[in-house]
Amino acid sequence: MDCLFCSIARGEIPSTKVYEDDRVLAFRDIDPKAPFHAVVIPKEHIPSAAAITPENSAIVGHIYEVIAEIARQEKLDKGFRVVTNCGEEGGQTVGHLHFHLLAGRNLGWPPG
Ligand code: 5GP
Ligand code: ZN
Repeated sequence: MDCLFCSIARGEIPSTKVYEDDRVLAFRDIDPKAPFHAVVIPKEHIPSAAAITPENSAIVGHIYEVIAEIARQEKLDKGFRVVTNCGEEGGQTVGHLHFHLLAGRNLGWPPG
């Protein structure tokens, strides 16, 4: 299957890793939208948040544990934002479930 984030998860495309375990990889976004911007992905291919089911939803809880661990590791003490874009109007450009972890500036609300 031709999927950019599966290729990154397999190490075929290089990335700057922030965290890795057997199920999850986090790496620096190539086009950062904040001073700290990581992308957290399950190694398993899940197309989007719309494809979460009772069978695969456990990974989402684990990803949030990983996000808390990265926040400690990177000292994101002033706060951070987690964003999952889903589908065309949601702004998703890569068809592999991912969580943006953004920090290092006042991010504003609501998003544009
Ligand atoms: P989306 O737009 O689907 O919510 O998020 C995809 C993200 O992946 C974007 O923020 C984009 O900058 C990032 N991205 C796209 N291609 C690459 C790549 O080859 N390497 C890295 N590190 N990030 C990428
Ligand atoms: Zn994939």
